[in-house]
Amino acid sequence: MSLTQHPAGLKLRYSPAPISCALFLTLAFAACARSSAEKPATSAPTTQSFAAPRISPDDAPLSPEKTGGFDAARAYAHVEKQVAFGPRPPESASIRRTQEYLRSELTSYGCQVDEDNFSAQTPLGAMAMKNIIAKVPGSGDSVILLLTHYDTLRKEKFVGANDAASSTGVMLEMARLLCGKKRSVAVWIAFLDGEEAQVRWTDTDSVYGSRQLAAKLALSGELKRIKAVVLADIVGQRDLKLKRESDSTPWLTDLVWSTADRLGYSSVFVNDRIAMQDDHLPFLRRNVPAVDLIAGDYVGRPPWHTTDDTLDKISPRSLGIVGHVLVESVAALDKKFR
Ligand SMILES: [Zn+2]
Repeated sequence: MSLTQHPAGLKLRYSPAPISCALFLTLAFAACARSSAEKPATSAPTTQSFAAPRISPDDAPLSPEKTGGFDAARAYAHVEKQVAFGPRPPESASIRRTQEYLRSELTSYGCQVDEDNFSAQTPLGAMAMKNIIAKVPGSGDSVILLLTHYDTLRKEKFVGANDAASSTGVMLEMARLLCGKKRSVAVWIAFLDGEEAQVRWTDTDSVYGSRQLAAKLALSGELKRIKAVVLADIVGQRDLKLKRESDSTPWLTDLVWSTADRLGYSSVFVNDRIAMQDDHLPFLRRNVPAVDLIAGDYVGRPPWHTTDDTLDKISPRSLGIVGHVLVESVAALDKKFR
């Protein structure tokens, strides 16, 4: 994803904004480069961060009985697994292992799993990418679409614990909860490839998987069945704060934020605003209601997009809170569109 707001708070022009985006990323990459250069020579090698970190009592997950059945320990284990695969940019051996893991987990939950293999035109040439979609049928025609991306930034030793193993772990646990359950709306959970820019974030070098999915659904005529898109991306760090994303659909943002408020999470789902470019945009551009759940303050400074985005930054408690809000938001959307 990319911030459409300067880290210091200066509002930049919203999409299409290749200039502002490039400007922002130039600043961000400069910051990242400086950060790694300043790292002391004695800092731990990346491989050590694969070891299971100590979980402080503050990060301990709420029990599934308190989070609508969502098991944050399971979500955390999925994050740990993805990080252990190593860097997962498109076409890497590690992303293939991740795809196999997603497929085998989803199948084991009884989900119907669709795969879309496509060729993405990137500045590095044509790339083989794959969207993986778990489909839970409903008794009616309406569909709620949940999104996460499972690729990681193309950067050496970048393991992306928060960006975006966190939301991918959450969505795997959502699939376990939702697959096989009867409701009137169908729920599709899409695990997207190629969210990250392969060279530099622009409208054409970003959100490959999401653009592919939105275009494919439009072509098949299924896009009009989608009543709401709920995207999660970067939702795992401790002291998680999710601000209302400015371009997200207001009624859908209200539904999710009021659900969080009712569950007692108003200190996590806060009412400040932030603008982000992310996987929800291809759906918004096609007039499908969409909301982005993202820790926008995490974006634009380390450990974002640095080799310090490691498992020790992840709080199972945060994963559980986001999962609980998603479970209850899906229930609210089921009620709304039945
Ligand atoms: Zn990213």
